[in-house]
Amino acid sequence: MRMRVLTPGHDLVTDTLIMHGIVRVLAYMGIYDAVVERRGERYIVEFDGWAGKLDKTDLARQILLDAEVYRETRRPVGLLHKINEANINLAVFDNWVSDLSQALLDADLGELSEGHREKFEEGRSRSKKLVTLHITLSPLYGRYRQREYSIEEGIQYKVCNTCFSLANIGFMYGAAALIVRRGADKDVILMSPAPADKIDAMDILLLQRLTETYKTIERVGGMPLLAAPLYWLSTGETLYVTDADLELVVWRVAKSGNFQRALDAATLNLRRLMEFVADVKYVLDGWPHAAGRLVTEAPEVLALLTEYVLYGGDLYAVARSLAASCGGKPCVDEASLLVKILAKLW
Ligand SMILES: [Zn+2]
Repeated sequence: MRMRVLTPGHDLVTDTLIMHGIVRVLAYMGIYDAVVERRGERYIVEFDGWAGKLDKTDLARQILLDAEVYRETRRPVGLLHKINEANINLAVFDNWVSDLSQALLDADLGELSEGHREKFEEGRSRSKKLVTLHITLSPLYGRYRQREYSIEEGIQYKVCNTCFSLANIGFMYGAAALIVRRGADKDVILMSPAPADKIDAMDILLLQRLTETYKTIERVGGMPLLAAPLYWLSTGETLYVTDADLELVVWRVAKSGNFQRALDAATLNLRRLMEFVADVKYVLDGWPHAAGRLVTEAPEVLALLTEYVLYGGDLYAVARSLAASCGGKPCVDEASLLVKILAKLW
């Protein structure tokens, strides 16, 4: 039986997470023959088979076990660890875990049809039946607007158990995280691949091997948004390259003192970035190590590189800042190889 589900249309970030969650859950149900199609900020997933409630899957059982361990020990283990690490609102984590346990028991892929969001009255709401979608999972609350929230204020954005479960699963598997710590403050950059058009679910699952990870670094200075994707792709596993057009949805949340903020978001050409990193890794064995050094010492250089790869610009300025970030001759030699690759792009 051909079945078709549709993400609800919360916003591009949440829907992309939900799409990743759907694909992952289908895989746990043994359904790999599926196609994902982008429709604006939403996704249609079509597959062969019958998919209903999530609670019988090994994936849900594993998360429920992890939640049980957390309840007893207060230690966020297993799949909860990434959520805890990227979370900027410490006060909500206990509720987050218990909400997720409850939601998983009720979540049902069959609920995701046209008109879902309206039917469940999801959105800014005081409803007790819905679950708060925390800022990490939905930083936008609209389209690419910069806003600032104090932790106590505002009516929360709430969703149903199915959306909450899938957004969390999508976050665990489909969003790479770079967490920059500064004492008790946190700056978290999140990145999730999104097909621009149509893609096989298998391709999404392969991409999830790159996105199920997260990295935490300590750094006093700022982290430009555009430094994170290049760092993540450069230090990740060997790249998988697909013919499908891919975008990368990037968003950032930060905790500074008592404030949590959704700072900025962007959609980048992921395929172009992946192809560049594959070329660089082919020529420069030491590139993953160099990218790891740059992200703490000079992330602005990574951001400049990304900007050039995506949009072109002043190659001389990029070359100069690359050379300036170098300590010795081997690095200068590598930098000039890198500039040769860049010169072919535009
Ligand atoms: Zn929902």
